[in-house]
Order: sequence, then C-alpha cells, then structure tokens
Amino acid sequence: MKTNSAPFNVIIIGGGLAGLSSAIHLSKEDIRVLVIEKNAYPKHKVCGEYISNEVLPYLHYLEIDVFKLGAQKINKFELSTPKSKLIKALPLGGFGISRFALDNALAKKAMQNGAIIIQDSVIDIQFLNDAFSIQTKNKTFHSKIVIGAYGKRSSLDIKMDRSFIKQKSPFLAVKMHAKGNFPKDLVALHNFKGGYCGVSKVENDIINLCYITNFEAFKKFKDIDEFQEEVLFKNNYLKSIFKNSQPVFETPLTISQISFSNKSPIENHIIMCGDTAGMIHPLCGNGMSMAIRSAQMASQLIINYLQGKIKSRLALEKAYQKSWNQEFRNRLRVGHFAANIFSKNQLSEMLIPIIKQIPNLLPKIVKLTHGKPMVVK
Ligand SMILES: Cc1cc2nc3c(=O)[nH]c(=O)nc-3n(C[C@H](O)[C@H](O)[C@H](O)COP(=O)(O)OP(=O)(O)OC[C@H]3O[C@@H](n4cnc5c(N)ncnc54)[C@H](O)[C@@H]3O)c2cc1C
Repeated sequence: MKTNSAPFNVIIIGGGLAGLSSAIHLSKEDIRVLVIEKNAYPKHKVCGEYISNEVLPYLHYLEIDVFKLGAQKINKFELSTPKSKLIKALPLGGFGISRFALDNALAKKAMQNGAIIIQDSVIDIQFLNDAFSIQTKNKTFHSKIVIGAYGKRSSLDIKMDRSFIKQKSPFLAVKMHAKGNFPKDLVALHNFKGGYCGVSKVENDIINLCYITNFEAFKKFKDIDEFQEEVLFKNNYLKSIFKNSQPVFETPLTISQISFSNKSPIENHIIMCGDTAGMIHPLCGNGMSMAIRSAQMASQLIINYLQGKIKSRLALEKAYQKSWNQEFRNRLRVGHFAANIFSKNQLSEMLIPIIKQIPNLLPKIVKLTHGKPMVVK
C-alpha cells in the first residue's frame, strides 16, 4: 500500500455539509486540509432540503450565498395530521435549496480556498503516537487531527464498535423532486399513518417531497407506489400534491437504517461533526443547521489548538464535547419527544385542537429544536 508522505493538519472524512463547512473554515486560516469523500459532486441526497435561517451569518462568513444559487425563502409552515386536520404557523424562517446545488457549491469553495478533496472511501482510522493514520480503499494518509463527518451511518461505525450501531434503526426515507404547483414560501409537514412527509420548494421551481416511515409500516406493501397509494394518500393534502405533480427523477431516492440513537461527539480522539455526532429527527427540519454549526464549533477549536491557544489534545476534546452538549443535547431531546408524539397518530389528532387554541405553542416547540443565528467571531 502506497503512503502519501505530505502530512495534513486536518483530514475530514466525508464531504457533506459538516465536512465541507469545516474544510472551508479551516482552509480560510491556511490550515492544510484534506477531505475524503466517497461520492462525486454534484450528488442528490435524501433530505427535506429546508434549512433554518440560523446558518445564514456563518454561510456568509464562508462566502456562500445560497440565494445566488437560487434558494427559495420560506416563511410559512403548515402541518396536517393523518386525518388531514391542518394547522398553520409561522416558522423561524428558512430557505429551500437542493443538496445537489449546496454541497457542490461548498465543495467548489473549499477547493478555491486550497483544501484538497479526493474521491475515495475511508475504511479504517487508527490513532497511534498522537497522530492518525487513515486508510482509504487506495491509500494511507496521516494527520494530526481527524474530523469524522461521514453522516449518519457507515462501516466505520462498526469498525469503531460505536454503541448506537448495535441498536435497531427501523426507519427508512424516500425523496423525490417534482414539478408542479406549490407555494414557494411554504414548508409543509403532512403526517400519515407511520410517518410524515415534508414538502417545500428548492431552486428552479422544483418541489422536494421527502418522507420518512418505519420499516414495519412499509414492508406490508409491494413497492413505493403501492405504499404511497395505500398509506400516504389517506392524507388528502399528500394525495393532492403527489397526484398533481410530475416527478423529475426516474426513480425516487431511498435510504434505510436511519438511527436517532445517542452517539458520542468524540470517538477514539476523532472529532465527530454533523450526523456522525448525533442525528435530530428530520421532523424538526434542523439537521443541516446542526451539521453546519457543529462544523463551525469544531473548526474554531481546532484552529485554537493548532495555534497553541488550546494546550493539549485532551483540552481540545473536552472543549468540543462541552460545547456540543451545551448546543445540541436539549435540541435532540425535544426533537425525539416531538417525533414520538407524532408517531402516535391518535395523540397527534387530539393535540391539534389544543395547538390551535394556543397559537404560540407550536412555534415555541419548534424554537426549542433550533439554535440562535450563528455568530461569527
Ligand atoms: C429523510 C430525511 C429528511 C431530512 N430533512 C431535513 C431537512 O429538511 N432539513 C434539515 O435541516 N435536515 C434534514 N435532514 C437531516 C440532514 O439531511 C442531515 O442532518 C445532514 O445531511 C447532515 O449532514 P452531514 O454533513 O453530517 O452528513 P452527510 O450530509 O450525510 O454527509 C456525509 C458524507 O460522508 C460521505 N461518506 C460516508 N462514509 C464515507 C466514507 N467511509 N469515506 C468517505 N466518505 C464517506 C457521504 O458520501 C456523504 O457525502 C433530513 C434527514 C433525513 C434522513
């Protein structure tokens, strides 16, 4: 096996939102960064593609203008129960942009800043004598710091024997892009028996339709079409949106084994960011902001460590663990709680009249799963 002799300060495993945001941030400070990403850009991804506005100040700092990429401003929110009871609320505000466009723009920016991105799959990470050795399918690389930003689930988690990987992850998700009529400024969450579907627009007037359900509900049907017809379309809103729009993809994208179990933000001295550190329920529409925010936190601390302001690796790890817990633990708890309630269909039907009576309740719950606008120091 060939070994690349030039050491990197930081190697980032996974070039999604967390990995690429870190790559841009670190390379702005002239830190030698390598991103190892298994797929080629641009790429579609199963995701609702609605991002909370809290990321905008930080994206500005990273010199990414989502509105130049065609992002849709979204300032209305509606939610329906499986029996098609509807409530409307004002969300915290956000925008819709495809991961195809956003991840590609971040990757380009990272490379412009001098970060190196290679397409390869990391298969092992070893920490020895205060340094990392990262094995891909093709090469071995070395670095002082490793950021794990490889998303919600990977064979690396099995290799590292992370505890969440041993627990059941019964959720699967389906995403498609479609053409049709849907308000540009609205994000809708329409529930159906066993899951819910997010609907909002991204750039180029495309509708994102993305739903999550559990495997038990899904396996009774022969395919996606039958599942949609028999389950999703019991919700009149979903029926109308799906029936009146034309899919853009030949077949929908699917993922399975989605886990919301607790994870650790530091594992074997690797600084975990984004979904690799913990995943919030997509119902909260905040996973992307959390991925970007964790990248910001990790990058700032790594810069301090490499500049000698944080004196030891242990101090770096403790500082990251502490900020991660402060920032995200409660959001994850509220997210799990909200998702639990909506998974109980009768309970969600009963809650709708209460939520209607107290108009501030829903925005307050949503707020608890979101962060403040990301301050750039
Ligand atoms: C159904 C669904 C809907 C969602 N909707 C929303 C939403 O509307 N709004 C929102 O804010 N969040 C949403 N989320 C959450 C959001 O998609 C994630 O939180 C976000 O993508 C996390 O970004 P990340 O950078 O951590 O991981 P990812 O974006 O998953 O990036 C990880 C990258 O690592 C790469 N990789 C993996 N393994 C390896 C390896 N071994 N070697 C090299 N590369 C590797 C992958 O190819 C990938 O590019 C949704 C999630 C789901 C499942």
